[in-house]
Amino acid sequence: MPPPSPIVVIGGGCVGLSVLRSLSLSTSLLPSPPPLFLLDASPVPGSGLTSRNSGVLHSGIYYPPSSNKERLCLRGRPLLSAFCAGRGVPLSFPGKTVVATSPGQLPYLRELLAKAEALQASGLLPPGAVTNLPDAAAVRAAEPRVSALAGARFATTGVVDVPRFVDALALACAEAPAAEIAQSAEVVGGRRDEGGWLLDVRQGSAEYQLRASLVVNAAGLGAAELYGKVVQGPRPPRHFFCQGEWLRLPGREKIFNGLVYPIPEPGLAGLGVHATVGVGEEGLKDVKFGPDVSWLPAHLSAGDLGAHYACSDGESEEGAAKIRRFRRAIESYFPGVADLALVPDQVGIRPKLWHPDALPGGDADFVIRRERGAGDGWINLLGIESPGLTSCMAIGEEVAALAQDFIER
Ligand SMILES: Cc1cc2nc3c(=O)[nH]c(=O)nc-3n(C[C@H](O)[C@H](O)[C@H](O)COP(=O)(O)OP(=O)(O)OC[C@H]3O[C@@H](n4cnc5c(N)ncnc54)[C@H](O)[C@@H]3O)c2cc1C
Repeated sequence: MPPPSPIVVIGGGCVGLSVLRSLSLSTSLLPSPPPLFLLDASPVPGSGLTSRNSGVLHSGIYYPPSSNKERLCLRGRPLLSAFCAGRGVPLSFPGKTVVATSPGQLPYLRELLAKAEALQASGLLPPGAVTNLPDAAAVRAAEPRVSALAGARFATTGVVDVPRFVDALALACAEAPAAEIAQSAEVVGGRRDEGGWLLDVRQGSAEYQLRASLVVNAAGLGAAELYGKVVQGPRPPRHFFCQGEWLRLPGREKIFNGLVYPIPEPGLAGLGVHATVGVGEEGLKDVKFGPDVSWLPAHLSAGDLGAHYACSDGESEEGAAKIRRFRRAIESYFPGVADLALVPDQVGIRPKLWHPDALPGGDADFVIRRERGAGDGWINLLGIESPGLTSCMAIGEEVAALAQDFIER
C-alpha cells in the first residue's frame, strides 16, 4: 500500500494550530497516520490576527441561532477553558455587563436576555449564566462606576492570556508524533494535478514544493486571496478589511468588576467600544477600551494591510478626533472616563465577507467548507473574525470531522 499522502494546514494562528492539534488527535491511533504539516508565513506562531484581539472568551449570545458563530463559540469556550486549565494557561471569568444607555436600546437588551435565557434553558449555557439588571440601581450594584438605564450580566464571559494559549497549543502540536510546524514558510502558489495538491512554498531564501492530499486553508486575513491564487474557480471568495483600535489605561487601577459592553449600534461591524481587562500569571491587568470600527477601502488586498496597523497619533488632527470619538462612546456608559489619560494600544484588522460600500449585507457567518469541483481536497476557513479565538478549538474539531475520509484513506 502506498504511504498516506500529507495533510497540509496553511496558517499558524489559533485556528490553524487548533486544526493541526485536532487532526493529530484523530490520526494518532491509525496504523499508518498521514504526515501532518503546518506552514506559517510568520516567524512565530500566533503573530497574525491571533495577537491582535481582546482576548475575550465570548458567551455566544450575539450570533444568529444555529449559525457557525453561535455553535462554535458555545462549543469552543468550554473546550478552550479545559485545555488552558490542563496546561496552566492563565484564564479568568470576570463576566461581562452589557448596558443600555438610551430607551431606544432597551428592545435589543431584552432580545439579548431572552436569547441567553433560551440558551440556558436548552443547556447550551450553564445555570446562572445570565442575570437581568432591570434598572439603573441594579447596574450600579453590579458595576458601581457605570451609568445606564438597565443591563444584563453574563457570567460565562472570560479572558485568556493569548500568547500563553498559543504557546501551549504549539507545544501540544509539537508533542504529536506525525505533526510538523514550519515557521516563515509562505505558500506563494500551487496547483492541482492527478496526485493532489502541489504547493509552492517560500521559506527564507529556499523555495520548494510540498505535495498534499488535503489542504486546510487557515491563513486568516490572507485566506481568500490564497485560495484564488491556487484554485482557478469562477468566482473566488474575497475578504474585505475592517480596522479596530484599542486605547489603554496605563497602570493597574481596577475600574470595573468585569467587562463592560454597550449595546452595539445598528449596522455596526463590531460590538461597540467596550471595556476589557487582560489576564496574566498575576491575575487581571490592563484595562483597555475598544475596538472601534473603521472600514478600510474595499479595493485593498491582504498584502496592502501593513500600513494600517499604526495606532492613531494623538498629536495629529485625525488622531485627536478619533480619540475624542472614543471618549464620547465610552462616556455614554462610563462618565468617569473624562478623568482618565488613555493612550493608544494596538490595532487589529477583521477579515469580513461584506463591505458597506462594495458588498452590503451585514454580518456574515464563518465559512468552513470543503470545496468541490476545482477545489476538491481543499477546506477553506473564511471570515474567521470574532469570536474566532473563542471558537478555535471547536473549529479544529469541525475540520477534523470534515477531513475524516482523507484521514482514513
Ligand atoms: C479587532 C479584533 C478583536 C477581536 N476580539 C476577539 C475576542 O475578543 N474574542 C474572540 O473570540 N475573537 C476575537 N477576534 C477574532 C480572533 O482574533 C480571530 O478570529 C482569530 O485570531 C483568527 O485566527 P486565525 O488563526 O484564523 O488567523 P491568524 O492568527 O491571522 O493566523 C493566520 C496565519 O496565517 C499565516 N498566513 C497567511 N497567509 C499565508 C500563506 N500564504 N502561507 C502561509 N501562512 C500564511 C499568517 O502569517 C498568520 O500567522 C478579534 C479580532 C479582531 C480583528
